[in-house]
Amino acid sequence: MRLLIMGPPGAGKGTQATAVADHFSIPAISTGDIFRANVSGGTPLGVEAKKYMDAGEYVPDEVTNNMVRSRIAEPDAESGFLLDGYPRTLAQVTELDGMIEETGHKLDAVLVLTVDQEAVVGRLLKRAEIEGRADDTEDVIRRRLEVYAAETEPLISVYAERGLVVSVDGMGEIDDVQKRIFAALDDVPQS
Ligand code: ADP
Repeated sequence: MRLLIMGPPGAGKGTQATAVADHFSIPAISTGDIFRANVSGGTPLGVEAKKYMDAGEYVPDEVTNNMVRSRIAEPDAESGFLLDGYPRTLAQVTELDGMIEETGHKLDAVLVLTVDQEAVVGRLLKRAEIEGRADDTEDVIRRRLEVYAAETEPLISVYAERGLVVSVDGMGEIDDVQKRIFAALDDVPQS
């Protein structure tokens, strides 16, 4: 099973990605988490990514593409994966198409979590208090939402044209959203 999860910052992608990945016994690969691990570890990749992340901007495609390419080439991703936070730009869509094609497989579905914009800002501010993420200040949150709307939201129509989008209401309790996701994904034929 090769899946993407999409939705604006604060839609609950990370939480739901873990549950979905467990369900299908595939790794949940979050570009945001990989970047944050590199920032904490002080790696060259982390030093580079931090400059953009702290401002709510996207890390350059080249850096991100290479990182994803090597991650999905790892043995645990051979039977499938769930990508969370990638692709985020049209160039990344093309790049991912190439990566998947090279393996002789195809993308099975793109799970889109729909949420109310103001509720999302509230969720992110609450998370900021709990987790203290450097990019969870109100200004940076607003910027991340703007960048999402300009760069990433249009990708949903690209995947919709390919008939891959499975849209799920992301509002409400985590468990309820999870049930909706499983129900929706049940109808997707697995490759
Ligand atoms: P969000 O809650 O905004 O969805 P993530 O944890 O997915 O946050 O990502 C945090 C930050 O990491 C992004 O704001 C961006 O700077 C960087 N990032 C993550 N994925 C990508 C990507 N595919 N392309 C470019 N930058 C990315």
